[in-house]
Amino acid sequence: MKVTRRQVLTHGVTAAGALALGSAATLSATRWAGLGAIPATSAPGALLDDASRINPTAVRGVLFADPTPERTARTVTPLLRRIATGEDPAMAVAGVRHSMGGQSMLAGGWVLDTRPMNRIDLDRAAGVVRVGAGATWRDLIPVLNEAGFSPTVMQSNHDFSIGGSLSVNCHGWHASHPPIASTVRRLLLLTAEGDVLTCSPTENAELFGLVLGGYGMFGVILEADLEVWPNAIYEPHFVSVPTSEYAARFAAGTSEMAYGRLSVDPLSFLEEAILVRFTPKAGTVGTVLPLTRPSAPELQRAIFRGSAGSDVGKTLRWSLEREAAPWLAAPMSRNTIQNEPAAVFADRSEETSDILHEYFVPRQRLWDFVQTARDVIAASPMELLNVTVRDVRADTRSALAYAREDVFGLVMSFRQERTARADDRMRELTRTLIDAAAAVGGTFYLPYRLHATAGQVRRAYPGWDAAMATKRRLDPKPVFRNGLYEAYGR
Ligand SMILES: Cc1cc2nc3c(=O)[nH]c(=O)nc-3n(C[C@H](O)[C@H](O)[C@H](O)COP(=O)(O)OP(=O)(O)OC[C@H]3O[C@@H](n4cnc5c(N)ncnc54)[C@H](O)[C@@H]3O)c2cc1C
Repeated sequence: MKVTRRQVLTHGVTAAGALALGSAATLSATRWAGLGAIPATSAPGALLDDASRINPTAVRGVLFADPTPERTARTVTPLLRRIATGEDPAMAVAGVRHSMGGQSMLAGGWVLDTRPMNRIDLDRAAGVVRVGAGATWRDLIPVLNEAGFSPTVMQSNHDFSIGGSLSVNCHGWHASHPPIASTVRRLLLLTAEGDVLTCSPTENAELFGLVLGGYGMFGVILEADLEVWPNAIYEPHFVSVPTSEYAARFAAGTSEMAYGRLSVDPLSFLEEAILVRFTPKAGTVGTVLPLTRPSAPELQRAIFRGSAGSDVGKTLRWSLEREAAPWLAAPMSRNTIQNEPAAVFADRSEETSDILHEYFVPRQRLWDFVQTARDVIAASPMELLNVTVRDVRADTRSALAYAREDVFGLVMSFRQERTARADDRMRELTRTLIDAAAAVGGTFYLPYRLHATAGQVRRAYPGWDAAMATKRRLDPKPVFRNGLYEAYGR
């Protein structure tokens, strides 16, 4: 087996282990850091972190995927065998590590960095793209754009890997759609035993449902066939509504994309909302359109970050979002809306970090949940910076579905000090909000901090224990482990 210099970051690997992998070469941590959008290392050495920036994790080493699924399978399988026999520690699979609780890492374990596996092959006639799991939406959108297509479902930013997106079963601003699992025709999976299996609704169907939303616990997604959607110019329509009327107002209209924003202004905290709908402009659907970046990112950033730590800043931001944004917003292509990096709004401070939560509530219970959340958050020391509302339709495909009926997803962004004390306070708040969601029949999302209790995970994901039993059957060692599995999988 040939393992190149670029494939193994050998910090912590014994010389024998490295030789067994076919390489005694050491790759410097700075080289690895240069590959990713997130600073991957911090002193004193091979510590990886994720988007939380409060999760430094010492790993055994990083193995890089090859550009093709076939070569990746050949490269990784010998290590999987060594893990199965106990000669090496287990492996976590990573995309761009925008999860926030160690889901893409394993303390003391191997990390498979899938990013080099980024081949893209569009079948225009079928409206399906075959894409390597390490490719990001940033790679994929320009290819689709040139053919008049767009992703059907993705996150609201373009930074994420396809493998990570499928493994968390992502969703974004697409109205009237279940999460991304619903758009997958087929995928190729590398199993714990080193087999490469085709999974689809009709072939290895049980595994298909476990892998979509399965957080890398059931194997490595090598590539996927995704249904694509016609690109178009979208016209934005803004309405301001009391949050208590949001659900009714939303139900009264239709759109292809939509999102809501709730006020974090102390004067109207969570009680006012803006609903933004996008409708396609006649004559532009499926045409080839210019791909640009959303305008004035510096200004957007200044307004957003200016509201951090400042009540006045939040009041100013809310009035701009309500009054100015509808006037300034221009028609934009679907791809342009989705082609935005998360870094535009990211916290770059050394002291604090933006921590995300997401709760899913049945549509008619939105206001019930928000009233409880308003009181709980107002009484907590944590600072809420942003709330968006997404339309997520019932998911019948993922074994670990978070949207088992039509729900609104409420994405909350909190600004948190990067200290253990602040993390403890966040744990307390998260558990209270999870209970509030559960009280209205809701659930919560798993890619963020792992603050839920084991009982809360099982209540939100009734299929959890059965999924873990299947994992024990398919991967008895287990070969694939990560922070999520360590927290709740055993
Ligand atoms: C700023 C920000 C914005 C976000 N916005 C959204 C949003 O709009 N919608 C949404 O749904 N989520 C969102 N998320 C949540 C979520 O973290 C990302 O959707 C997710 O991280 C996806 O991509 P990734 O490449 O970063 O995955 P990673 O964080 O690298 O991995 C996530 C999980 O997938 C597994 N995995 C990765 N690649 C593979 C593979 N090839 N095979 C098997 N398993 C794999 C990992 O083991 C891990 O468990 C956001 C996160 C951040 C930080």
